[in-house]
Amino acid sequence: MKYVENILGTIGNTPMVKLNKITAEIPALVLAKVEYFNPGHSCKDRMALKMVEDAEADGRLKPGGTIIEGTSGNTGMGLALAAIIKGYKLICVITDKQSKEKMDILRAVGAKVVICPTDVEPTDPRSYYSVSKRLAEETPNSWYVNQYDNLSNTKANYEQTGPEIWEQTDGKVTHFVVGVGTGGTISGVAKFLKEKNPNIKIWGVDTYGSVFKKYKETGIFDENEVYSYVTEGIGEDILPKNVNFDLIDGFTKVTDKDAAVYTRKLALEEGLFVGMSSGSAIKGLLQLKDEFGPDDVVVVLFHDSGSRYVGKIFNDDWMRDRGYLEDEITKAEDLIKE
Ligand code: PMP
Repeated sequence: MKYVENILGTIGNTPMVKLNKITAEIPALVLAKVEYFNPGHSCKDRMALKMVEDAEADGRLKPGGTIIEGTSGNTGMGLALAAIIKGYKLICVITDKQSKEKMDILRAVGAKVVICPTDVEPTDPRSYYSVSKRLAEETPNSWYVNQYDNLSNTKANYEQTGPEIWEQTDGKVTHFVVGVGTGGTISGVAKFLKEKNPNIKIWGVDTYGSVFKKYKETGIFDENEVYSYVTEGIGEDILPKNVNFDLIDGFTKVTDKDAAVYTRKLALEEGLFVGMSSGSAIKGLLQLKDEFGPDDVVVVLFHDSGSRYVGKIFNDDWMRDRGYLEDEITKAEDLIKE
């Protein structure tokens, strides 16, 4: 008989799929690591389980405890699976910009969901950072996960995602391109791959409205870079400990519109029904095309599934309301902030 002990045994070992049409202008072999094959349908299952296991091991999380986290949904889903199997309660603090599907899914797997406003400063008592911390202080036998600064996040990707990419490419990978939110995926994979071969280039994909690219290029945390945006899962208004800027060779920024348009293209041209940050990742890769030669093997990671965004990207009214339905991608003048 061939089975796993519980659903957690199906995390990881996600497939790598060659991209064909959407990358026609790229001379290199482009391979997508498709993370929606995880049981929670995102890359975050790996780090969620690792954070729980590490907290159990050193006593931060005790039997019957309550796990509390500020999460855009995917980490919450991973934590929910771990909580169900291991017998913990879970509170997810989420911002009101997140898709309705993500909130419903979290409730379906037993999480209590607390919704906070998006457009407030991180230090505002109503922000999801502040609310998560306060609930953790007020709830007995609770553990505040803090995926931004919890380095088990990077470790999970160093121990799992990085080695998988190395083995699946027979050590031939030359570039890795990925969206950056907490930074756990890029930093963990980058650390593993650069230890194997320091010539491998690591590119982060950022959003307009986020601080990462400017900080990498200038060392300045520029608050003028921060404004609200639509893309979910990537970009930040803080510098999480999990973003290891020394391991990242550069960032490219992708607009909300291009992310949306390219998410749809991935579904239609490659049959990959992925989420919006995957549209950002592939558009970012295309923006970097001069970096790649014919002998290169470029790996791009697609973090989650399109099913989380059926009311948004895959809804024509939502797209039309935002002017995203035209075929053309963003022009230079669209990028100038009013
Ligand atoms: N895309 C999606 C959909 C995500 O949920 C996340 C996690 N915030 C990311 C990309 C970025 O991954 P990381 O937090 O590891 O940088």
